Amino acid sequence: MTRYIFITGGVVSSLGKGLGSAALGALLQARGYKVRLCKLDPYLNVDPGTMSPFQHGEVFVTDDGAETDLDLGHYERFTGVPARKNDNITTGQVYTEVLGKERRGDYLGATIQVIPHITNEIKDFILEKEGTADFVLCEIGGTVGDIESLPFLEAIRQFGNEVGHDRALYVHVTLLPYIPAAGELKTKPTQHSVKELMSYGIRPDILLCRADREIHQEERRKIALFCNLAEKNVIPALDVSSIYEVPLSYHAEGLDHQVMECFGIKDIANLDLSIWEKIVRRIKEPESTVKIAVVGKYTNLADSYKSLNEALIHGGVANKVKVKLKFIEGEDFEGGVNLAEHLQGVHGILVPGGFGKRGTEGKIKAVEYARKHNIPYFGICLGMQMAIIEAARNLCGIEDATSSELSDGGTHVIGLMTEWETEEGGKEQRSEDTDLGGTMRLGAYPAKLVEGSRVADIYGSEEISERHRHRYEVNINYREQFEAQGLVFSGLSPDGELPEIVERTDHPWFVGVQFHPELKSKPFDPHPLFVSFIEAALKQSRLV
Ligand code: GLN
Repeated sequence: MTRYIFITGGVVSSLGKGLGSAALGALLQARGYKVRLCKLDPYLNVDPGTMSPFQHGEVFVTDDGAETDLDLGHYERFTGVPARKNDNITTGQVYTEVLGKERRGDYLGATIQVIPHITNEIKDFILEKEGTADFVLCEIGGTVGDIESLPFLEAIRQFGNEVGHDRALYVHVTLLPYIPAAGELKTKPTQHSVKELMSYGIRPDILLCRADREIHQEERRKIALFCNLAEKNVIPALDVSSIYEVPLSYHAEGLDHQVMECFGIKDIANLDLSIWEKIVRRIKEPESTVKIAVVGKYTNLADSYKSLNEALIHGGVANKVKVKLKFIEGEDFEGGVNLAEHLQGVHGILVPGGFGKRGTEGKIKAVEYARKHNIPYFGICLGMQMAIIEAARNLCGIEDATSSELSDGGTHVIGLMTEWETEEGGKEQRSEDTDLGGTMRLGAYPAKLVEGSRVADIYGSEEISERHRHRYEVNINYREQFEAQGLVFSGLSPDGELPEIVERTDHPWFVGVQFHPELKSKPFDPHPLFVSFIEAALKQSRLV
C-alpha cells in the first residue's frame, strides 16, 4: 500500500520545500521504506529546458532524458533514487496532454473543463506512482494563493479524499518572519496561509515552520491554536549552515516521527542517521581548504549551477577539505586582462556547461592558463568544448578553430553531427530542428573508456553511463591532430563516433567531459571525477 505525502508552501517562495521534501524522503528511507519523490510545477512552460538559468536556476536532467526542475536534483542527492521523466509535471504538460486528447476526440464531445479534465490528468500523474514505493512525496511548486496552483491544490484535495485520509498527508511549509522592532517571530502570515489552504478544502496535518531563530513554545502554541492542529505537529525548521544538516535538524524537531504518528504507524526508536552525521562533520570540520575558480556565465546566482556546486562539496567531503569557490564571469577574461591576477592562488579551474557565445573567449583563455600553468582543469560540456578549441588554436595550428554554436565562419572543430556527416551520408539527423525545446542530446548515454587512461583509472571501469544535455559534438575527424598534441580522446560513444572525454597526458589533471557528471553525484556517493579533481587541487594547494 502506497502512502502519499503532499508538500505545499505558503507565505513566500524559496522556502526550501524541495530540500524539506528530500530530507523527509531520506528520513523515511532510514526506516527502511522505499520512497519516491515527484514535483508538480504550476508554471505554463512545458518543461524548464527553455527557461533562463537566471530566472529558474539549473535544469536537472534525468537518465531517461527529461529536462526537469532543480528540486529533482535535491531529491536524487538526498535519497539516491534516480529521478525519472514522470517525476515532474508542469501545467504546460497537463494542458498539452488534455488538448491532445480533445483534438483526437477522446472526450467524446464533452465540454473540457479544469475540473474534472485538468484535475484528472494531475491525479493520474500522481496515481501512476501507486505501488512503486511505500511513500510517494509530492511537492507542489509555487505558493498557496497563486492563481496557477489552484488546479493542483484541487487535484491533491480530491486525491486525498479518494485514497482516504489514512493514506494521504498534507505538510505545509511556512515562514515565521522576525520583526526586529517587535523583537519577535510573527505567526500571522502562517495563520493566513493556512486559512487560504483550508479555503481549498485542505487541512494541513503538519506545519513545517521556517525561521531564522528559535521558535518559542508560546509561538508554537499560538500557531497550533489558530491553525487547528496539535502543537507537536508544528515543527520548527530553523536555518542550518549546510543543506546536509537538514535531515538531522528536522529529525531532531520530530518531523519524521510526526509523519509516522499521523499515519498511525508505530515508529522505531534510535534511527541510524550516521551517514548524515559523518557528512555534516566533514563539512564542518575540514582538514584544509582548496580554492576552485569556476569560469562561467551565470555566476551571480548560486542556483544556476546547483548540482555543480553540490558535486564540488561532495568531492571536498571525500577528501576532508573545504572547497571554496571563486566565481568568475568568462567575459571578465576578455580584452587585455591579466589572468594571473584573478587566478593566482587557485588550486583548480573549472569551466562548467553553458550555452551561447557570451564569455566563451574568456573561458578559452582560462583553459590556456590552466594548461600552461599545470593547474588542475575540469571542463564540463561547454568546458570540454572550450578545451578543444583552445588546443586547436594554440597547439594544432587551426587558428580559426571554433564551434558552429559560436560562429558560422571559421573551422568547426565542434558542430552539429550533421555538419560533418554529409559526405558519408546515411547518418540519422540528431539535432537540426528549429524548436529550441527538447532538441538536444539528452539523458543517459553509455561511453567506453580507453584502457589505461586516467579516466578509466578514476572510474575504476571502462564502461560508464553519464547524462548529457547539449546540441554540439566534438568532430571525431580531428582526433589524430589533437592526440599528437597530447590531448587524448579517452572516452568515446560505444560506436566510436562521439568524443565523450578528453584528457591531457602531460598535465597533472586535465579532463574535459561532454556530459554532466555533477548530476549523479551524492554526498554519500560522490562522483569519482569530482573526488579526483578535488584530490588534484589538494595536491596543487600543497605546491603553492
Ligand atoms: N552549448 C553547448 C552545446 O549545446 C554545451 C552545452 C552544455 O554545456 N550543456 O553543445
